[in-house]
Amino acid sequence: MKLYDAHNHLQDEWLLPHLERIAADLAQAGIAGAVVNGTTPDDWPTVSALASRFPWVVPSYGVHPWDCGNRPSDWQGRLESSLATEPRAVVGEIGLDRWILERAKPDDPRLAGLRRAPLAEQTEVFVWQLELAAASNLAASIHCTDAWGALLDALQHSKLPARGFLLHAYGGPPEMIRTFADLGAYFSFNGAYLDSQREARRNTFKSVPTDRLLVETDAPAMSLPSAWRCHELPAQPDTTALNHPANIAAVYAGLANFLGWRVDQLALRVEENFLRLFL
Ligand SMILES: [Zn+2]
Repeated sequence: MKLYDAHNHLQDEWLLPHLERIAADLAQAGIAGAVVNGTTPDDWPTVSALASRFPWVVPSYGVHPWDCGNRPSDWQGRLESSLATEPRAVVGEIGLDRWILERAKPDDPRLAGLRRAPLAEQTEVFVWQLELAAASNLAASIHCTDAWGALLDALQHSKLPARGFLLHAYGGPPEMIRTFADLGAYFSFNGAYLDSQREARRNTFKSVPTDRLLVETDAPAMSLPSAWRCHELPAQPDTTALNHPANIAAVYAGLANFLGWRVDQLALRVEENFLRLFL
């Protein structure tokens, strides 16, 4: 079975020390494609190096909403040149995040040292990147937390890639799925939604059209519940679990189980969808 991870961060500093083992585990799992999302100009060279080494890496370049406030002044030129030099490159991770502004704790370690850009500034940076993807008809991978109305408004007033875009780890309302799909959205199911407490998130995926369904890990973030994990990495110093990218196999198994499909049926569907959007 060929597996496709629509969204991860293999370039992350917490994964790189384990890269050889991760690559071997992914090969054994049957990885055939993984979109590796840069989040700031600082990590784009690492994404590019991974794409040179592994043929299954789809390199993706973008400024994440958490990194928006600290972006360097020359970020736009650097993004254009990263996209121009690699024929397989796509755009992401980009998006909108109101959670960091209104709900995140002031001392959340994941946000340490980051200036939290206001939503208007995030929107300007997001739309510029989205329209850059549209101009070359490249797929764009979008993060959205607590800003679904603002995201819809931005999508409705921007040029969009004709091939579509990904709403990664979709966590918006089920009733918005049709509207987003009509604009070209694909929706990736994250393994964290296999948690028994996240039934509402899981159920949302019953409304996703089958030709828009994808599967993702977001590794090293968004760990699966321990009962589903098929690979472990040593925890971070603050004891947060690190999500191993080869857990993509468990995400397929968990989603197939939830939908009542055979996992090989799901794999064929996801393959068609992944290839249509990203390659
Ligand atoms: Zn991500």
